[in-house]
Amino acid sequence: MDREKMLSNPKETIRVIQENEFTFRKNYGQNFLIDSHVIDKIIDAAEIDKTTEVLEIGPGIGTLTQYLAEVAGSVTAVEIDDKLIPILDKTLSEYDNVRIIHGDIMKQDIESIFEGRPFKIVANLPYYITTPIIMSLLESRIPADSITVMIQKEVADRMKAGPGSKDYGALSLAVQYYSEPYLAANVPPNCFMPRPNVGSAVIRLRRLEKPSVEVEDEKLLFKIIRGAFNQRRKTLANAVSNFEGLSYSRADVEKALTNLGFDTRVRGEALTLEEFGALSDELGRLGITGQT
Ligand code: SAM
Repeated sequence: MDREKMLSNPKETIRVIQENEFTFRKNYGQNFLIDSHVIDKIIDAAEIDKTTEVLEIGPGIGTLTQYLAEVAGSVTAVEIDDKLIPILDKTLSEYDNVRIIHGDIMKQDIESIFEGRPFKIVANLPYYITTPIIMSLLESRIPADSITVMIQKEVADRMKAGPGSKDYGALSLAVQYYSEPYLAANVPPNCFMPRPNVGSAVIRLRRLEKPSVEVEDEKLLFKIIRGAFNQRRKTLANAVSNFEGLSYSRADVEKALTNLGFDTRVRGEALTLEEFGALSDELGRLGITGQT
């Protein structure tokens, strides 16, 4: 399709919105892309070619979908807003490799869409559920090779942060346990209609073949991480022993830390994912269950 006629041209987006009397629904996080350079960056970061099957979350009026349809083998797009379905039928009518599913991405059986074939996820995500969507995709271990998404800049910074940084926390560790994050672009509010109140970023999460650390008890690891950052200004031993999801005493955690060669006053923000893994296994080895 001629680029001038694509929805990345703001005039086309305005025309489609007016012709269809579409009104934006804030509760669905609707901020449509109106910048072709940003879309090119998303497509480049996602590493798509004609052999790639793509799952798009929230196609809106089909702006990113048009670009995906031109470069990918096929695109399956899941959209929750019933008002957008007839619009998508029109804006994507010239592509025969696009399938629209009307539904909530949090309730879709994604594996059954692709029946075991590899695929990639690409989206300009609705910001009200960015983290739940990404965590449920990563935790359910669906076989997506990568997830390339537009999200709030502040959330992207937290996903890729390392120890010692103010952005480092439970989200950084969870994302880096399952994937390798790469920040592809920072995107200002004027690239969207309507403009969001925050800056945005494109991040690609390449799924790791296996988690980046091996632990005896994954659930325990994530509880310890959550506990450690629940009260991030306290020492790790205090924060974990105060955490209601676990029943370790401060002495238990201090003993495990000492055995691993850490200062007992260390804070969670100083530990790498490997070190959290070692702490989780050490607490297990000491024969303390700690699970409530
Ligand atoms: N992809 C379009 C673009 O870039 O212009 C629209 C992106 S807009 C930020 C997010 C889209 O996700 C909206 O179309 C919204 O209706 C849709 N959406 C919101 N919650 C959803 C959900 N739970 N499942 C599927 N789609 C959802």
